Amino acid sequence: MKQMDTKSLVNYIALKILGGSDYILDALEEYLVNGEGPASVAYKYQISKHQLRGYAQRVIEKSGSEARARKIIPIIKQISSDIKPIVKKNEKDLYVCEICKVTVAKEDAEEHVRKYHKDILTTTIKTMLERLEQYKKEKQTVILTSAS
Ligand SMILES: [Zn+2]
Repeated sequence: MKQMDTKSLVNYIALKILGGSDYILDALEEYLVNGEGPASVAYKYQISKHQLRGYAQRVIEKSGSEARARKIIPIIKQISSDIKPIVKKNEKDLYVCEICKVTVAKEDAEEHVRKYHKDILTTTIKTMLERLEQYKKEKQTVILTSAS
């Protein structure tokens, strides 16, 4: 079976959140974990079904399997709940960087984060990976305790 590429997965999710697509984990949880229909989930988050399936496919690839993606999505959601986007959609449907106060096209939001806020991206990825490690440790402790 394919291994989970945790770094690549966290990297992908962190960039999505910081770039303003912070609904990605909610959308994927509803679609992949809860098995809701792609049309209703896509509609709810104002994305296309094609985009939703694209997100799911990328996350499944990085997770190694769909079953693992279903397990990891709620965990990543939990550990990233306090991570806020840098680029946000405003009331005029424009994407604005909260730090530079510039408007960027939606499709350039992630590139903007990667290019101008690499330090924040790096810190966010590091934080998420540390929390995942911590989560794994705690889980193992629980398993060991219940087995004894
Ligand atoms: Zn900026």
